[in-house]
Amino acid sequence: MALSGIQIYKLLPQTNCKDCGYPTCLAFAMKLAAKQAELSSCPHVSEEAKAQLSEAAEPPIRLVTLQADGHEIKVGNETVLFRHEKKFFNKPGLFIRVRDTDPAEDIRAQVAAADSYRVNYVGMALSLDGFAVEATSGDPGAFASAISAVRAASARPLILISRDPAVMAAGLRAIDGESPLICGADAANWQAMAELARQHNAPLAVLGNSLDELAELTEKIKETGVKDLVLDHGARSLGAALIRQTQIRRLALKQNFRPLGFPIIAFAGNDAPGGQAVMAAQAIAKYAGFVVLDSFAPETVYPLLVLRENIYTDPQKPIQVQPALYEINNPSPEDPVLVTTNFSITYFSVANEVESSGLPAWLLVTDAEGMSVLTAWAAGKFDAERIAKAVKGFNVADKVSRKRLVLPGHVAVLSGELEEELPGWEIRVGPREAVDLPAFMKQAL
Ligand code: SF4
Repeated sequence: MALSGIQIYKLLPQTNCKDCGYPTCLAFAMKLAAKQAELSSCPHVSEEAKAQLSEAAEPPIRLVTLQADGHEIKVGNETVLFRHEKKFFNKPGLFIRVRDTDPAEDIRAQVAAADSYRVNYVGMALSLDGFAVEATSGDPGAFASAISAVRAASARPLILISRDPAVMAAGLRAIDGESPLICGADAANWQAMAELARQHNAPLAVLGNSLDELAELTEKIKETGVKDLVLDHGARSLGAALIRQTQIRRLALKQNFRPLGFPIIAFAGNDAPGGQAVMAAQAIAKYAGFVVLDSFAPETVYPLLVLRENIYTDPQKPIQVQPALYEINNPSPEDPVLVTTNFSITYFSVANEVESSGLPAWLLVTDAEGMSVLTAWAAGKFDAERIAKAVKGFNVADKVSRKRLVLPGHVAVLSGELEEELPGWEIRVGPREAVDLPAFMKQAL
């Protein structure tokens, strides 16, 4: 558990020598507790105190990183149970599972399709993170060939799945020099798997059929020097997985229970109750660090990528676009100026509707601190004065010959004030919903 400022102070030399740059040891301790100073700034702290303080400074859920050829996925290092308390930091990796019993050509085709899949969501390019290769055959040669087939189609990080150390060793040889997630160790094979993880400097997933078994195994494996561990709690049904994932997160955060202070790997199989999409959605929302899907289908992956983005967005910092005057479909000086706020989802809803209609328009995005139209209006961040300021600030009058400004229908109430703020401009009230904009532009403008 994190130490308080007073607990840290008791471990410091208490000489107030100021060498750390702070006037007293207590002031330095308070900064350390707030994670605004580094322990190394005090040159006089004893080795014993250093060890205690370093351990206390470790995150309650270890950060585990998977890398391959410029791709990187970091999971863990979370500090809260609920995103309204602070935020979730490291998005869970989404992986697609392939099996070594499938023909190499099928594997390559599946992986290539999933690897090239991209979603553009409110200006962000979203994609999958990697592939999990499972040794269903039990044959080292088949496993190695399947991994090579995956590598031929994708450079993304890998998870290798086998409980047989000999098979796993063959798989690791197929991608010599890489450090995939080894999945994994259990009560019967943990020494051999830990040795492979140590040799390949790779993180190791640990399977326990109960939390007690899992905790016991991670403690034993840590003693071998393998520190980057991932937890597989063994539950595959919705209810049992939710309970175990919540228990692990609570124990790690609330009790600082180090044996379970690691990211979780969740498996969302096609035969999961409710289907893999429901299982994966639950895993994303409730604490998984890696989510392995049984198959790739855009209609499943798209909502999961968007869900993940929404859950890992800081609720106190909405996704914003840059306030500016945007051109849609090469507008001329005759075309209308549409007004909206800089909340990303609002901006892209409006921009996408107009763009797909083929109608040209200017889109004036005002700085409403990332809020949607109605929220910003209610908060006083989207009013006639701000809109007029944006019109002047972005020199809109220089771009158009016909001065027509279209307000969102939800803020029709602003039209009178805006006419006063912008003499010479024709203020029109548009529809409430972006989807109705093209029809409005065709008929009313
Ligand atoms: S350098 Fe160390 S001993 Fe000196 S004031 Fe800072 S914390 Fe105290």
